[in-house]
Amino acid sequence: MVSAEKPSAQMLDGRVTADQIKKEVAAEVGRLLGEHGVRPRLAAVLVGNDDASAVYVRNKVRACAEVGIESDQRRLPESTTTEDLLALVRDLNEGEDVDGILIQLPLPKQIDEATIIEAVDPAKDVDGFNPSNVGLLALGRPRFIPCTPAGIIELLDRNQIEIAGTNACVVGRSQIVGRPVASLLLQRHATVTICHSKTRDLPAVTRQADILVAAIGHPAFIRGNYIKPGAVVIDVGVNKITDTNQAYALFGAEAGKRIEAIEKRGYTLVGDVHPAEADSVAGRRTPVPGGVGLLTVAMLMRNTLQAAKRRRGV
Ligand code: NAP
Repeated sequence: MVSAEKPSAQMLDGRVTADQIKKEVAAEVGRLLGEHGVRPRLAAVLVGNDDASAVYVRNKVRACAEVGIESDQRRLPESTTTEDLLALVRDLNEGEDVDGILIQLPLPKQIDEATIIEAVDPAKDVDGFNPSNVGLLALGRPRFIPCTPAGIIELLDRNQIEIAGTNACVVGRSQIVGRPVASLLLQRHATVTICHSKTRDLPAVTRQADILVAAIGHPAFIRGNYIKPGAVVIDVGVNKITDTNQAYALFGAEAGKRIEAIEKRGYTLVGDVHPAEADSVAGRRTPVPGGVGLLTVAMLMRNTLQAAKRRRGV
């Protein structure tokens, strides 16, 4: 149900922070090129025909061009085997000019994802998914921090949102978002609760949170009654909805634009947080789109720059 109350949450605009980070990366890329003749290079591997993955890779390649990072896009067919992909990963690992390797997930189901992630050279693992990088992060000595969690912390920091001492709650315990963001929040001295599908009375737990991170993958799952008044709500979810009635119920004053989008291209994007209800309770909220996703791409640029500097000793 859409609340009749006037929306109060202030938007945490991902674009402003992402643009700042990309500007900083671009300046440093320019310096590397000018002083050392080095241009960082990212290999982006896309396997199969997943539309969303293709869009994500396109956005990442576009961001590379924006900041002056060279990108090398590799497309493999849906029928690719684990062995085929391993061969490409080994090739990229050995490539002297490749600084970062991005394997867009999810992979087609016949491919053993864990084997591929483990095969990526940890020094080029700009997604931070290789077990050695996961281990370093868990120890509080990160080398590459996964991009989405790193972006969330940047967003909080650059918007002067205090982390230390707060109650933070992360809903979701995936390797790519939930666990690493919980680890980072803990390292920044939040008191962290991690929730998942077996958590009992979830709203009672999430309502304790000053910072609530939703990384679930269910559209508008976090309702108004899950949110502590005034909380900062970080919506990681990216879900497509195609039903205009649902869009009307979710987006309140913004519904018109969303319904237009559905009529034009068949869908609109919604996060894991119910936007209209959250806006009547939360203090701040990240929008979808225009929030965390943009930070993910910006942090990939920063990780690739760092990889290039470390590998090349500059
Ligand atoms: P995932 O691997 O599917 O994990 C989802 C998590 O949500 C799991 O830990 C699951 O619990 C938990 N969950 C599912 N149903 C629940 C329920 N009813 N109550 C409480 N917890 C529940 O997903 P992910 O890869 O972390 O992605 C989450 C969302 O973020 C997706 O929408 C994805 O598209 C989006 N995403 C966005 C970005 C970005 O850049 N914006 C990046 C990555 C992901 P169990 O562990 O118990 O199953």
